[in-house]
Amino acid sequence: MSDIHIWDSHVHLFPPEIYRNWDKYAGKDETFALLTKKSPNGKGTEEAWVDYEEALAIADESGVYGLCMQGWYWNDEGLMRLHNDYMAEAIEKHPDRLKAFISVNPKFGWGALSEIERCENKGFCGIGELGPGGNGYDFEDPDFHAVLEMAETLDIPVNIHCGEAVGHFYAGKDTTSLSPLAQIISNHPDLKLILAHLGGGLPFYEMNRHMFGKFSNVRYDMAANPLLYNIRVLRAVIDLVGEDRLLFGSDFPLLLYPSRTRKADMSLFLEDIRENAGFSDEEYRKIMSSNFLSFVR
Ligand SMILES: [Zn+2]
Repeated sequence: MSDIHIWDSHVHLFPPEIYRNWDKYAGKDETFALLTKKSPNGKGTEEAWVDYEEALAIADESGVYGLCMQGWYWNDEGLMRLHNDYMAEAIEKHPDRLKAFISVNPKFGWGALSEIERCENKGFCGIGELGPGGNGYDFEDPDFHAVLEMAETLDIPVNIHCGEAVGHFYAGKDTTSLSPLAQIISNHPDLKLILAHLGGGLPFYEMNRHMFGKFSNVRYDMAANPLLYNIRVLRAVIDLVGEDRLLFGSDFPLLLYPSRTRKADMSLFLEDIRENAGFSDEEYRKIMSSNFLSFVR
């Protein structure tokens, strides 16, 4: 299986200017501060910071070929553009190995739509990760719908952060109801969606008799899975929705195994998948590579 080009569909690479001056930027954006602050006791969930060159070096060591950078749900319009400019520079420098989704906060209204247009012209291949909870909107919000309509027109996917309705509470947990999202999916069969973090459990609800068969343009990524679910969930999702709609994505450089390493790492999750997810060779090839590449351009 060494011949496949593994693509991580969900990484977050922030401009070094932002993480090197964390205090300054955290003061401008409360959600960013909440989700990325260092845990006081050195345990707990934490972001490790790397730039795109460092990320590619770690990818090389771990046998990962490509990284798709997801944007962030900024509440500050200037930071949104700064982050997008950084990702634009990255994909220009490494067009074969890096892809980027557009950071956007739908609540910026026309500012959001014009940012999508600006970045699409620079070669970004999707929109997201959108974070409704972090930006204070829900899935019925007209500004959110305007972004989806633009994505549908441009024929590019949208990655949406989906929080799980159950389980422990943690800083930044997104409890936005997924119910309207299921309705949007059945009303917009051509809209391409990537629902992050296994869609917060939506694969199960696809089996609903009124929803069944309507999710063919939806993909699920497994970002942050080791922090959220037992690895057996990946097999369960394949059993529910098939092997063609699950995408490898990690949330790198978020620390996924904080008790095992405090450094940015890609190999632990890959090892866990290879040893414990129970994928067949064919499933592995699709989930780690071709499912993503055939969904984006
Ligand atoms: Zn997320």
